[in-house]
Amino acid sequence: MSTPDPIVIVGGGHAGAALCVALAEAGLGARVHLVCDEPVLPYQRPPLSKSFLKNPDEAPALHRAEAWYAEAGITLHRGDAAVAIDRAGHRLQLASGTALPYAQLVLATGARARTLPALQGLDNVAVLRSAADAVRTRALLAAAQRVTVLGGGYIGLEIAASAQALGKQVTVLEAAPRLLARSLSAAMAEHVLQAHRASGIDLRLGVHVGGFEAAGGRLQALQVDGVREDVDLLVLGIGAVPEDTLARAAGLACADAADGGGVLVDAALRSSDPDVLAIGDCASFPLAGSTQPLRRLRLESVPNAGDQARTAAATLQGRQPVHAALPWFWSDQGGLRLQMAGLLPAHAVVHRRPGPTPTGFSLLHYVGDRFACVESVNAPMDHMMARKLLEAGKSPDPAAACDPAQPLKQWL
Ligand code: FAD
Repeated sequence: MSTPDPIVIVGGGHAGAALCVALAEAGLGARVHLVCDEPVLPYQRPPLSKSFLKNPDEAPALHRAEAWYAEAGITLHRGDAAVAIDRAGHRLQLASGTALPYAQLVLATGARARTLPALQGLDNVAVLRSAADAVRTRALLAAAQRVTVLGGGYIGLEIAASAQALGKQVTVLEAAPRLLARSLSAAMAEHVLQAHRASGIDLRLGVHVGGFEAAGGRLQALQVDGVREDVDLLVLGIGAVPEDTLARAAGLACADAADGGGVLVDAALRSSDPDVLAIGDCASFPLAGSTQPLRRLRLESVPNAGDQARTAAATLQGRQPVHAALPWFWSDQGGLRLQMAGLLPAHAVVHRRPGPTPTGFSLLHYVGDRFACVESVNAPMDHMMARKLLEAGKSPDPAAACDPAQPLKQWL
């Protein structure tokens, strides 16, 4: 079954699936092995916290049908985890006992949902990372009246909005004094907070949660700022940890856990071993243009996984790409369609562009004369144009750019 000069991809998520597509388009499908620990074909994760939870009959949306992989010549290893990398022998060991030879290996192992040891194994506590998690969470949601979400990050807020739409009584408990401090401006975070509260979600900030009381395999109660509250269903939305276990065990350079972890890669997405690349949520990569000190990023987004897959495909074909894609992201939370592009600058002047409807607007962030970042809510066309401006390095005059009568595309 072995093909000459194989490229082995570990992880059939967004990055792994997008790399399969890029390599197949380059005519290299017959060299590719995709190793997936999940039994299902690669699927889209974003719907899992949104439409999937609300629709009992919805199935995971596949990236490609099984026949596509076969036609591209890609060999799939499903339900078989990679357990060790033999770098000296250029072999990947799978849980089934198979040892796959590789010329080049790509780690696309993603991230795993953070949990709390005190809550593991309880029947009414859920996390949401995989399709299997989503099936379980959907069933638990259907049976619950009250839903407590621990963590006001993107996934937590999306789950809260979905539960709210299902008619549940929803509480979100967030330790930080504001929402989404690492990725949203204070103004946009406040808008998101008020929108969720207006929809009926009991969203509390700056709270300390502890005192978990379990009995009979269920979480009975927890304490919020020292006050006991009964729990019907608790969903954890307390972030994700990059899945870099294989890389660490194989001696590849990884970021310290305190710095967010992840496999350290260069601008071509090669790890400390040039025959091993890392892409997607598990990769800590250099910010384009940053030199001394080198600034690294680890992005958890679908666009990043796709962009890095395309960069990796170029590297695997012997080119020397420099990964410099503009970071962007979206999150759908009930009636809010949030979209961000560019990195939020520490010091910026923020200009507000009204959107096409009363619920929509964009915040344009300028550093001096330079347009650096855009955040939009319910303004998808404006967002698309602003993103293109950022990609093109264009900085329209902010007063003109905030006039809704002036289409942003005129500055492209
Ligand atoms: P993943 O998609 O996590 O794939 C990694 C795969 O590798 C997994 O299947 C994992 O099981 C497998 N794996 C790990 N270790 C091994 C091993 N040893 N052997 C074999 N296989 C292994 N992003 C957005 O931009 N917008 C959104 O609206 C959005 N919504 C999201 C909603 C949810 C519920 C979740 C969980 C994520 C969401 N994201 C969203 C984030 C986005 O899905 C991730 O950034 C993206 O999936 C990253 O792709 P990846 O391939 O790096 O990792």
